[in-house]
Amino acid sequence: MLVPSRYNVSLDHGCGGTAVFNTYTCALVVLSRDQWQRYLAAGTITSLPDATHDNAIATLAERGFLVPAALDELARMNRALERGRHDSRGFRATVSLTMRCNLRCPYCYEGSGRAASAGTPEMTVGTANAILRFLAGKAAGKQYLNISWLGGEPLLATALLDRSAEVLQPALRQKGIAYSASLITNGMLLKETVFPKLSTWGITEIQVSVDVPQTYRYNRAGKPTRDRVLDNLSALTRQPQQVSVNLRINICHDDDCDFDALCAGLIERQLDKRLAGIYLAAINWDFARCGQCLPQNGNDTTSQAAQLACHRYKMRAVELGLPVSLLPSARLGCCVANAVDGVVIGHDGTLYKCLNDVGHADRGFGSVHRADDIRWENLQPWLDYSWTSRSECRECELFPLCAGDCPHKSLFGRTLTGCAEQPGCRQLRRRHLENLIYQTLALHPLESNLPTA
Ligand code: SF4
Ligand code: SF4
Ligand code: SF4
Repeated sequence: MLVPSRYNVSLDHGCGGTAVFNTYTCALVVLSRDQWQRYLAAGTITSLPDATHDNAIATLAERGFLVPAALDELARMNRALERGRHDSRGFRATVSLTMRCNLRCPYCYEGSGRAASAGTPEMTVGTANAILRFLAGKAAGKQYLNISWLGGEPLLATALLDRSAEVLQPALRQKGIAYSASLITNGMLLKETVFPKLSTWGITEIQVSVDVPQTYRYNRAGKPTRDRVLDNLSALTRQPQQVSVNLRINICHDDDCDFDALCAGLIERQLDKRLAGIYLAAINWDFARCGQCLPQNGNDTTSQAAQLACHRYKMRAVELGLPVSLLPSARLGCCVANAVDGVVIGHDGTLYKCLNDVGHADRGFGSVHRADDIRWENLQPWLDYSWTSRSECRECELFPLCAGDCPHKSLFGRTLTGCAEQPGCRQLRRRHLENLIYQTLALHPLESNLPTA
């Protein structure tokens, strides 16, 4: 027996049609109202023999709109997340090279007292060596080691990158352990002199952020930085080396003129063709920092105006041919915070599970200097974290897209910044998803596209 997936999101598509998006497979289909009634209306049961000689049923099953009646879809999601948590093939590390930054974005902790409260912003030679020993130890016996280097601004403190090329990479190569790395930077120092070093450092992916409006990313002398960053990206993407460059556009609040100017700047430099991808995200004022893994659908400390602008701008970017995808993708893996073989390392060698905690020594669970001395009270909650503990999430048709939201938020609420959680995420995110579906269909109209028997 096949039944409609609990993760189908159906909406009227005008002219008697219904658009259906499945949040687990992220497939989109348009059905006539009759077809929807016959196959996907609540309570519909389709017998398996029908699926073998009805092409429409076979297609709906293949794309996840129809699922076996006995399948527990929530348990399947949970298994995927648990598999991610216990994936022991490799080790993932996010390393903050410095707390220093050459910019001072108002939403980032760099602009708050937090960077200063974290003591000296520089990594010492002793800590750099201890980090390399720690990482080599964690990678032993694994198939790969993957590192995300970030700051502050990581290109202000590249000594550890040099040391990793001299010491860590050869040691891993000798043991047959694959190494890959990404760099998360504001792009100001991505100059010609740095390009040759990227391959030495083993960097295969770079993420650069810019802001809309650009006044949020002026330098410390109050001067604009965006043109320089785009010029740097233009020069970098013309290099023969194989580095995949992604641009993240932080929408701080709506400013149509500034967004248009940014798009024009990208197209003028042919970055619409050279960048691997562009992501737009409404800035969340509690969690923001250069390119960190913000939940894309934040709803509370992200302003409504910024979110609405973000949707509008995505549409405009797609129309202009920029490499932006409108529809979201499912979160079928777990973030580094919940992974058994994952860690975030502060510039002073403190071990954390989540980027949001860097600089908050009381949230650390250990140190690269004393790897056996674990503060279990700070580690265990991440390893025991349940994505499905909240009943609203268990019932929610959007669960595959957000996996119950950012675990840090669920575990600690807003205690770092004193803001309280706000309810209503499901309604708000559902509205945003519907907007994106409508926008997608406006750009790529799908007729009722089911094959018939
Ligand atoms: S958001 Fe990035 S560029 Fe801005 S101050 Fe923070 S680390 Fe620096
Ligand atoms: S209730 Fe909110 S956090 Fe939970 S799955 Fe739905 S949208 Fe995500
Ligand atoms: S807990 Fe949230 S902020 Fe932390 S790593 Fe995971 S998704 Fe990112």
